[in-house]
Amino acid sequence: MIAIIYASRATEPLSDDALRAILEEARERNEARDVTGLLLAVGGSFLQILEGAEADVDAVYARIREDARHTELRLLGREEIEDRGFGGWWMGFARPGADDLAAALPGYKPSTVYPLVDPSLIHTAALARTLLEMYARNP
Ligand code: FAD
Repeated sequence: MIAIIYASRATEPLSDDALRAILEEARERNEARDVTGLLLAVGGSFLQILEGAEADVDAVYARIREDARHTELRLLGREEIEDRGFGGWWMGFARPGADDLAAALPGYKPSTVYPLVDPSLIHTAALARTLLEMYARNP
């Protein structure tokens, strides 16, 4: 199995309905491929982890990369994993608040625009994982 972690920025402000549509689509497709993970959203920036068989994760990520609803995709990590860290979800979702961002990301300020895709804040997979794992859920 592998895990991919990437960050991106929404092309336009996404309404709750638009986000819900992305999640519904993601969950349906991920279930079909047994891909699990978590999507975080803060002020128009995204951080997502995808886990599963290599071919499935690569296929899902290839479609995500083409999606016009977000841009500035930055691959933070692609690594072999023994076990899933987010196995309870076809795609979990959370909106980290300022306290969690400050706890996980040294240098975070509430004034930071697009914090999840800011390379000065999240520049390694390890940092991204610290934040993602605050919301991990497993069966
Ligand atoms: P099609 O249904 O053929 O659509 C083609 C393109 O049309 C899409 O790539 C997209 O650019 C665009 N599009 C589709 N619907 C809309 C819409 N409502 N508004 C505007 N443009 C639209 N998919 C997964 O399978 N798993 C995931 O975990 C996942 N996570 C995502 C996370 C984010 C932040 C975003 C933005 C998207 C995510 N998606 C995920 C959706 C994924 O990008 C694809 O849209 C989806 O997989 C369908 O792929 P497709 O090529 O079959 O698209």
